[in-house]
Amino acid sequence: MVVGESGLGKSTLINSLFLSDLYSAEYPGPSKRHNKTLQINPTQVLLREGGVQLKLNVVDTPGFGDAVDNSNCWEPVTNFIDSKLKPLDIEFMKRLHDKVNIIPLIAKADTLTPEECRDFKKTILNEIEKNQIRIYEFPDVEDEEENGMLKKLKERVPFAVVGSNRVMEVNGKKVRGRQYPWGVVEVDNLQHNDFLALRDMLIRTHMQDLRDVTNNVHYENYRYKKLANVSA
Ligand code: GDP
Ligand code: MG
Repeated sequence: MVVGESGLGKSTLINSLFLSDLYSAEYPGPSKRHNKTLQINPTQVLLREGGVQLKLNVVDTPGFGDAVDNSNCWEPVTNFIDSKLKPLDIEFMKRLHDKVNIIPLIAKADTLTPEECRDFKKTILNEIEKNQIRIYEFPDVEDEEENGMLKKLKERVPFAVVGSNRVMEVNGKKVRGRQYPWGVVEVDNLQHNDFLALRDMLIRTHMQDLRDVTNNVHYENYRYKKLANVSA
C-alpha cells in the first residue's frame, strides 16, 4: 500500500513498480491518466521475478486531504514547523507502525539535488527517531559479502524514488524516464535514484521477511489486542 499526500506520485510509482502500463511518444495512453485517486484501489498483480511467480495485492490510496470529509485527517502537531516532514506524515506513520511494515520514501527525487536529497534523508530519519516511529528494520545477516550489500541498502533509506510510465531512448537504449531540457532522469538507474533498490528489496530480497514480520509481529500483536479486549 502506498500512502501520502495528493500529487506526490503514488499512482505513477505503483505503475512503475508493478503494472508496467508504459506509455511512449507513439502510445501516449489515456489523456485522463492523471485523474485523482479518490478511492482505495486494491489491484491484483501477477508478475514473474527470477522464475518465481508472485501474486501481489497492490493498494493505491487517495492523497491526504482529498476525501470529502477530512475531519479526522487533521490532528496536527506543531513541534515540527521547522522540519520539512509534514505533521500529517508523522501522524500517519504513528497510526500505522504497529500494524504494518513502514518503508519511508521520498517521492519525485528528481526535484532534489544530490545534496538536498542527502539532507532531506537525514531530516526524515531524525524525525522518525524523535517521534519514536518504528520503520521496517532490515534483518542482520552473517555472511560478510551480504552484509556489505545490506549496509549499502540501509544507507539508502528513506528510498528517494522517481516514477514514470514513459519510455524513451537514451544512447540507443529504451529506458523508463522523465525527459527534461537538460537530459533524462532514468527510473531504473541507481545513479539517478533509489527505485531499483526499493523494487529489489520489496519483491526479491526482503519479500519473505516482510511477510514474516507482518505475520509474526503485526498480526500477532493485533490478535493479542483483540483477544485481550474480548476477555476484558
Ligand atoms: P498521486 O496523486 O500521488 O497518485 O500522484 P500521481 O501519480 O497522479 O502524479 C502526480 C503528478 O506528478 C503527475 O503529473 C506525474 O507525472 C508527476 N510525477 C509522478 N512521479 C514523479 C516523479 O518521480 N518525478 C516528477 N518530477 N514528477 C512525478
Ligand atoms: Mg493517485
